[in-house]
Amino acid sequence: MTSSPNPAQLLAENRDLRARLAEAEEILDAIRSGEVDALVVSGTGGERVFTLQGADYPYRALIEAMGEGALILTEGDVIYYANQRLAEMLKTPLERVIGATFARWIAATDQALFHDLLNHGRGAERPLEVVLVAADGSHVPCTLACSPLPIATARPSLCLIVTDLTEQHERELRLLAAERLARSILEQAAGAILVCDADTGVIRASVVAQTLCGADPTGQPFAQAFPLRLPDGAAFSLADHLGDAGRQAIEARLEHPGSRRDLLIGVGPWLGVRGEVLGSIVTLTDISQRKAREDEIKQLAFFDPLTGLPNRRLFQDRLRQTLADCARGPQQGALCLIDLDNFKALNDTLGHDIGDLLLQQVGQRLSEAVRLGDTVARLGGDEFVLIINGLSEQTQEAAAQVLGIGAKLQSSLNRPYQLAGHAYRGTPSIGLTLIHDHAANQDELLKQADLALYQAKAAGRNTLRFFDPSMQAAMEAHTALESQLREGLRTGQFLLLYQPQVDGEGRLTGAEALLRWRHPDRGLILPDTFIPLAEETGLILPLGQWVLETACAQLAHWARRPDTAGLTLAVNVSARQFRQTDFTDLVRAALARQGADPHRLKLEITETLLLDDIGDASAKMVVLKALGLGFALDDFGTGYCSLVYLKRFPLDELKIDRSFVRDLLTNPSDAAIAGAILALARNFGLAVIAEGVETEAQRALLAECGCHGFQGYLFGRPGPIDALRGLRRR
Ligand code: C2E
Ligand code: CA
Ligand code: CA
Repeated sequence: MTSSPNPAQLLAENRDLRARLAEAEEILDAIRSGEVDALVVSGTGGERVFTLQGADYPYRALIEAMGEGALILTEGDVIYYANQRLAEMLKTPLERVIGATFARWIAATDQALFHDLLNHGRGAERPLEVVLVAADGSHVPCTLACSPLPIATARPSLCLIVTDLTEQHERELRLLAAERLARSILEQAAGAILVCDADTGVIRASVVAQTLCGADPTGQPFAQAFPLRLPDGAAFSLADHLGDAGRQAIEARLEHPGSRRDLLIGVGPWLGVRGEVLGSIVTLTDISQRKAREDEIKQLAFFDPLTGLPNRRLFQDRLRQTLADCARGPQQGALCLIDLDNFKALNDTLGHDIGDLLLQQVGQRLSEAVRLGDTVARLGGDEFVLIINGLSEQTQEAAAQVLGIGAKLQSSLNRPYQLAGHAYRGTPSIGLTLIHDHAANQDELLKQADLALYQAKAAGRNTLRFFDPSMQAAMEAHTALESQLREGLRTGQFLLLYQPQVDGEGRLTGAEALLRWRHPDRGLILPDTFIPLAEETGLILPLGQWVLETACAQLAHWARRPDTAGLTLAVNVSARQFRQTDFTDLVRAALARQGADPHRLKLEITETLLLDDIGDASAKMVVLKALGLGFALDDFGTGYCSLVYLKRFPLDELKIDRSFVRDLLTNPSDAAIAGAILALARNFGLAVIAEGVETEAQRALLAECGCHGFQGYLFGRPGPIDALRGLRRR
């Protein structure tokens, strides 16, 4: 059932209809007059919006389409025109925007700013930043760009473009947040983090990284802030890892003055928005503690806790290495097993703590006695073992070297010990065996050394034994010779022979005293056999003194007869003898005791002797020269052969070594050297004696080169003093 409209309703509808008709009339008038060229009808449902579009319609369409809000204000801030975008920004229907004042959407805080712009045009040069308050109360940050309307109409006065900054602000906020995040990571991270640019300069450093560096490394090259060494000793280079994928864990050691840290380095790329490598992100993790623990574990596994020396395990490892080295190269090694005599008795009487002290001190002394590269290990109990590397390839020589080391170990372990207030003297038994290239395997070597040790024990305490029978024999001979040398010195088994020295005309000028040992069993022994041993044992000191006394006595004897009074006597002085602090006094005393003229005595010294201690040597020579003694430099040309000697030391004579004279006629370079020595000597004002002249041809050639002093079999072999007499008569 439908109800019929009441009269009041009809009247209202009629009025509305009439208003609309009037409106339509007005529009048609406008179209007719050409003021507008289009009518746009928009709106939905019952509500309808008519917009008259003028000749500027395309521009309006443009303005509607653009992303910014646009509006035209009349005087008094009334919105005369606004585009749809502005309405959206203000969250207000467009028809309610038009005709309203724009100021009502400006936030309270920006009102003054807006009015300055509106009334005085202030701030119009560049976009003004204000906040709009939309209809729902939300804030819209935006810029207002304004320009006065150039049209000469009465009403519109200002044109405004409103750019919504919400998105931009959000972007900035996001950036800010990212920056904050980065900062808090750098501040709070437990590890050290560094951001470095492509040139490895540090641009950001976490707090822990700064602590690790000792200062803020920002701005420094990474390598300077963190000098890191890789396990192979090379320096870590960040540049080598630029662009690495970020998976490495490189171990390195940071060596700052005063602090050493083990670090794990992680390097990852720092990428730009397009994926390009801008630099590196470096993380440094301090693993010093873990490393220390690992070292400790290693220490426990490979070292003896009591002495800190390698244990049996590490020893076997090193022995394997030495065996491999000896198999590869010409050098030999040696295994040296040491057992302390009477250790059990010490343990039983003074207790294990004292025993432990002894073991520690023995370990210490053994370590000090060997060279770097050798191994001292403790096998357990009171048994120590040494691996000696780099011995001579000549077996006899290697044996002598080992013997020397063994003797050194022995004397070191013989020194008294202080064991917590107890004075103690201990001796070792030592078993030795050589490691050749064809050496036995590890077990066999140890057995050999063990056997030698067993024999050393059996032979009595403080004894050294070789496994190899021939070496044992050599060692025994060596030891025997030493005691015989002592005995020989005591019982007068030494004698001097004299070898004539002549001038250019063959006239006797003097002699060199040469030592001989008349051995009761072995007959006459030449000095080369026993001088080195005498040097080694120190017996050279009393022996040298005897030579000096005997030579002085001979000089005194010669002085008493006119035909021999002018002869000189040359005496060889060994390095060890010359090095004695009171050497000059000993010489002076010998001369005085025998009543010999110092001017007739000539000391023959060698270059090596001078090299020992240049200052001390020249001081001693100066003192002796002042007494009237002469100095000859023996074996000249074979040693270091430096001109420095000739200038530094107050020498009188050079002796051209036998080796040059021997091949003088066959080897042109030897002749050249002899010639050069003669020229040199002339320059320095030194006399020259050529040694070992055996033939007339040698003599003639030397004389031709300007040599005026000779010694050698051509003029006489070393012989008893009486043999010189015949020569004088000749
Ligand atoms: P040196 O001082 O170079 O002595 C010269 C050596 O050459 C002597 O050997 C001598 O016998 C030898 N000789 C001399 N003329 C000839 C020759 O024409 N042909 C050959 N082939 N040889 C010749 P010696 O006596 O065996 O002495 C060897 C070395 O022992 C000496 O070399 C010297 O360094 C050392 N020596 C000798 N006596 C003493 C001494 O009293 N004290 C010290 N410390 N060393 C000594
Ligand atoms: Ca000599
Ligand atoms: Ca010589």
